[in-house]
Amino acid sequence: MMDKNDKKQKQKRNLIISAIALAVIIVIAAVVAIYMAENTDKEDEKTLPYTDLIKEMSYGNIEKVEMTVGSTTVKVKVKNVEEEKTSIVPNTESFMNLVQQKVTEGNEIELIQKPRSVISQIPGIIISFLPTAIMLALFVMIFKMQGMGEKGKVYDDTERKTKVKFDDVAGLDEEKSELIEIVEFLKKPEKFAKMGAKIPKGVLLYGKPGTGKTLIAKAIAGEADVPFISMSGSEFIEMFAGLGASRVRKLFEKARKISPCIVFIDEIDAIGSRRSSNSGAETENNQTLNQLLVEMDGFSSEETIIVLAATNRPEMLDKALLRPGRFDRQITIPTPDLKGRLEILKIHTKEKRIAEDVNLESIAEDTAGFTGAELANILNEAAIIATKREHEDIENDDIEEAVKKVTVGLEKRQRVISEKDKKLTAYHEAGHAVVSRYLPTQTDVKEVSIIPRGVAGGYTMYKSDEDKYYISKTEMQEKLIALLGGRAAEKLVLDDISTGASNDIEVATQIARDMVTKYGMSDTLRTY
Ligand code: ADP
Repeated sequence: MMDKNDKKQKQKRNLIISAIALAVIIVIAAVVAIYMAENTDKEDEKTLPYTDLIKEMSYGNIEKVEMTVGSTTVKVKVKNVEEEKTSIVPNTESFMNLVQQKVTEGNEIELIQKPRSVISQIPGIIISFLPTAIMLALFVMIFKMQGMGEKGKVYDDTERKTKVKFDDVAGLDEEKSELIEIVEFLKKPEKFAKMGAKIPKGVLLYGKPGTGKTLIAKAIAGEADVPFISMSGSEFIEMFAGLGASRVRKLFEKARKISPCIVFIDEIDAIGSRRSSNSGAETENNQTLNQLLVEMDGFSSEETIIVLAATNRPEMLDKALLRPGRFDRQITIPTPDLKGRLEILKIHTKEKRIAEDVNLESIAEDTAGFTGAELANILNEAAIIATKREHEDIENDDIEEAVKKVTVGLEKRQRVISEKDKKLTAYHEAGHAVVSRYLPTQTDVKEVSIIPRGVAGGYTMYKSDEDKYYISKTEMQEKLIALLGGRAAEKLVLDDISTGASNDIEVATQIARDMVTKYGMSDTLRTY
């Protein structure tokens, strides 16, 4: 839905820009045309160079001077020459002085001064107004774009009700059972009001990107059969400064009109991060956040608007958001466990042609830590791969290839690799594999390859871990050993080391840092 709005907005913006460009071109063309017309006139007539004009003047040969106010072009009649001539004078004032001097000296010069013609003034007028016109056009454009930013995103979204239901959200059973209450509030607000219960205003959904926060918010709207308005926190503050608060106001204005409804604010941390300093961007955020709080505090009892907001950085949020009467309900949307992944895979294979040999259980096992969005993406990649391979249905191989493509990157069979590099990669990867084999906490190696994928020259894939909540110190230490196994093998066999271990070292450094700074796993405790 957002994509459509973006497109519409872009189209409108392009239209305005083209209209302005066209107007500017027309104005410039008109100016040029008028100038050209003037110039052609001049060329048609006989011209008299200025030096000749001065000479004729000193000989007393000039009988008539005709000039237009503000113009440097003068028409002169030279004695014994029938046709009048045109001359351009560099400085009209000094020329006039010269004429006056000649007249006082006794020369008979007829002097005609004409007011400026309207036509000849047009280019000047246009030129002087051009900057103002362009500025005006720019202002109009900016205001239009602001308006569209508000309308396009907010209004279009509300026209349609979402068809997503809880059944479309796989796993997350506990979360759904908690959120079903919200559906009840939206469906029968009067039931709760009778009991004197206040309907909650805001629910915060915490979770990594792609865990289905938007999906579940839509499902609530779908189940309650109410409109779903959505906007992302970053959209409030993008484009033009000072707009955030007014966008929030417009969003809620619309929500009030169509209540009962769900307002979904994605990436709320973009506006709701802790208020600290008074710098420009901060102030902008503060205003936006304040407006949001004002709106939420101001819901009347007849308005059933429930604001759902999503973030993956709960620690960043301003405490004011979490006060009772605002986002006082918080629900964590976790990355799916084995059962959840299997259910997500099942939902996303429903509309696809899946071969009978496909074992979704084993794919779910291999994808520990993957989010719903990543799983949906893998199945989509698998469908593309199956089409490219001209398979009748999506086969297990296609899905496995898609998993590798998403995790390690695309296979680069065409890349030319020297024998030396191949040997180095082979020892490096074998180093990981052999070392892991002797580490009790590490999972078994699933596949070792020296065919490059993505940016990696080769890779060692491990069997997926079961979902766990805690990792022990021994496990982390052994992970460090496994990661450094590649570098150790290079040193041992080739008696040299290479840049191939850079990624391993990066990951190892992060683990080691976390062990010390986050988990207190240092060996020695300093006593003071
Ligand atoms: P978030 O808002 O948490 O970043 P989304 O709700 O936008 O994530 O999820 C993106 C996509 O991932 C969804 O449109 C859906 O296709 C898929 N997805 C994520 N979680 C689930 C789930 N639990 N069940 C089914 N599909 C899911």
